Amino acid sequence: MKKHNFYAGPSILPEDTIKNTADAIIDFAGMGLSLMEISHRSKEFVAVMDEAQSLFKELLNIPDGYEVLFLGGGASLQFAMIPYNFMQTKSAYLNTGAWANKAIKEAKGFGEVVEVASSKEANYNYYPKDFEVPKDADYLHITTNNTIYGTEIHHDIDVDIPLIADMSSDIFSRPIDVSKYTLIYGGAQKNLAPSGIAFVIVKMDALGKVDRYIPTMLDYRTHAEKGSMFNTPPVVPVYAALQTLKWLKAQGGVEAMYKRNVDKAAVLYHEIDTNSMFKGTVANEEDRSLMNICWVMAEGYEHYEKEFLDFATSKGMVGVKGHRSVGGFRASTYNALPKESVEALVSCMQEFKNLKA
Ligand SMILES: *Cc1c(COP(=O)(O)O)cnc(C)c1O
Repeated sequence: MKKHNFYAGPSILPEDTIKNTADAIIDFAGMGLSLMEISHRSKEFVAVMDEAQSLFKELLNIPDGYEVLFLGGGASLQFAMIPYNFMQTKSAYLNTGAWANKAIKEAKGFGEVVEVASSKEANYNYYPKDFEVPKDADYLHITTNNTIYGTEIHHDIDVDIPLIADMSSDIFSRPIDVSKYTLIYGGAQKNLAPSGIAFVIVKMDALGKVDRYIPTMLDYRTHAEKGSMFNTPPVVPVYAALQTLKWLKAQGGVEAMYKRNVDKAAVLYHEIDTNSMFKGTVANEEDRSLMNICWVMAEGYEHYEKEFLDFATSKGMVGVKGHRSVGGFRASTYNALPKESVEALVSCMQEFKNLKA
């Protein structure tokens, strides 16, 4: 039976990414050796790293003055590296969910943290937009897509201080104006590559403004100056990322992805809104994520939750269970997820209603 992969992360990747990476693990670049057993300083791997960085810049239209890095430690290490490198005394954070909270916790170890707004009182079911940013903060940190709660800001906001964004789960899902950000980062395992790397897009002239000693490996300059090759980078995830970037380009880039993602999400949200057995958890349409779509059983049907999950699983749906802090269901509709998977899920929801309602 065909499986439809709705996992939130690690999550679906393009078939090309998986196949080409598997091939390179056996025989990399015709060297007769595995990607896992060759020097990261070989000309063959250096070419992979260079191409991954340049395609990353091309696809997101990244202006001069920014570097793209691939670093170990996932997005979670970035929660600490950001204040380490950018926070002198005070920073500002928008609290839109569990990941934002983890970022806030790390920043608090470096000084004063101002929470500019929070949707916590509503279990993060909307994206706060009306807030004031303290002018004397070193930066504002936002999470553009909240993977757990299914909320997203769909445009690049304007602020008067440096803007830093966690784009773990929406990178490459829409065109972005990188020039509005000082730093963009994310774990690779939502929309780009297997886990093992975080991507970082950093504006170089914003670095070097804090007084503290920064340990070598935690200093963005270390990695930027060496093209992400200061030490041995996670070569397999970088290779896989390059395959995804090539796939993205062949599909028409982020504009084409955005169109597809809007189209896929509309199909599923329409079913959630019109099928009487279900209801969405994010009421405000403009806050609804295109990447992680959350819903629950409608009133009176709550007792069917487990039965629906089992039914969906029996039809080949994988990873549809909601995060424990929201409950219900979540379908992650990342770039690599084909529309036919969304249609299969929608058919499941309709069939279930016909059986039960
Ligand atoms: C998954 C996720 C993270 C954590 O990523 P790791 O690479 O596991 O540390 C951080 N932020 C967001 C928005 C995420 O979705």
